[in-house]
Amino acid sequence: MTQRLVLVINCGSSSIKFALRREGDSAALLSGLAERLGSDQATLQWKTASALEETLLEDGEHGSAMAALLPLIEQHAGQPLSAVGHRVVHGGEHFTQAQLIDNKVIAAISANADLAPLHNPANLTGIQAAMAVFPDIPHVAIFDTAFHQSMPAYAYRYAIPEALYREHAIRRYGFHGTSHQYVTHRASLLSGHAPGRGAWLSAHLGNGCSSCAVLDGRSLDTSMGLTPLEGLVMGTRSGDVDPNLHAHLGRTLGWDLPRIEQLLNRESGLLGLSGLTNDMRQLEAAADDDHEGAKLAIEVFCYRLARSLLGLCAALPRLDGLLFTGGIGENSAKIRARTVEHMGAMGLKLDEAANNGHARGEAVAIHAKGSPTIWVIPTDEERQIADESLALLDH
Ligand code: ADP
Repeated sequence: MTQRLVLVINCGSSSIKFALRREGDSAALLSGLAERLGSDQATLQWKTASALEETLLEDGEHGSAMAALLPLIEQHAGQPLSAVGHRVVHGGEHFTQAQLIDNKVIAAISANADLAPLHNPANLTGIQAAMAVFPDIPHVAIFDTAFHQSMPAYAYRYAIPEALYREHAIRRYGFHGTSHQYVTHRASLLSGHAPGRGAWLSAHLGNGCSSCAVLDGRSLDTSMGLTPLEGLVMGTRSGDVDPNLHAHLGRTLGWDLPRIEQLLNRESGLLGLSGLTNDMRQLEAAADDDHEGAKLAIEVFCYRLARSLLGLCAALPRLDGLLFTGGIGENSAKIRARTVEHMGAMGLKLDEAANNGHARGEAVAIHAKGSPTIWVIPTDEERQIADESLALLDH
């Protein structure tokens, strides 16, 4: 049987990330990025196993970027696409799994725009542009929030008046669902559990960071909430702060809400703490040179991560393993080591040599003998989106 092809699209306000995935393959046939859309410097970059190319996009809007993809896809696919899978950030409470996109789904994504004002409208722009260019192919929406819809009410409700939940959908949703789902599923296979089984803590550490407790393929709690600002320290996002901080800054400094949103989303996290950069690799280099801000940022990042992971143990009946993924989780032995040092209470201990010797791009166990398993597992959200799109068609 021919393996089917899926085009995976992740559309932001000024960019479109895309990948052409063949069923069962671990690497993309073709992948790339259109960026600076909406400006006169819009570009389209793409790569295959053997080549990397870039072109300037005249009239660099989302629609024309998508149109420029069509001949590229045709050239590399060699067969018709079976589906286009779209990453959509917020599915609210409407969506607990992947959806075939029709007018009703589009309306619901649009209705959730209040919950993700930066992301959902951009995701919709991508969906509409792709549907215009690939009109005869099923389009599937995969939501960052859907995997977490299995959380119990005691994990997803905020302790604020019930009417705000009932009338305004204010609750915890969680994000990075495709990544947590992918790595926990892989962990079950790698550890010899039945597919999808096991009690896992997953730490997705990229520019955005979140932790998640997963039991037998179901998310039971996660660190992000109504928005992706809640929870861990991230590149430029603060993570948890005292909820009264807004009022305090308003009262003492006269800051309005947009200023405070800017502060907490763009000027905080590793960048804010270090006063240097949001990039963990650079922070590690600066910490090696004794930069105080960089050292503190790393310490706060790891301590708060460990605290979150230990807290998430409350969601699990036991712990089969801890998983690290994302750019930081996959590549930084130092962050993994410092985080696990804070987790001795759960009996977690690293095998130093395995942790330091871990080769990029590989899934590897890095725990010491007697410790619950600890894994580094490279995430592959595109593959998860492609697989879920095909699974929906097979249903
Ligand atoms: P995104 O969330 O945008 O997909 P990534 O998952 O690529 O981001 O993660 C980006 C983060 O990973 C950056 O902070 C980067 O510095 C960090 N990172 C990448 N490689 C390393 C490394 N070798 N050591 C430490 N941090 C790394």
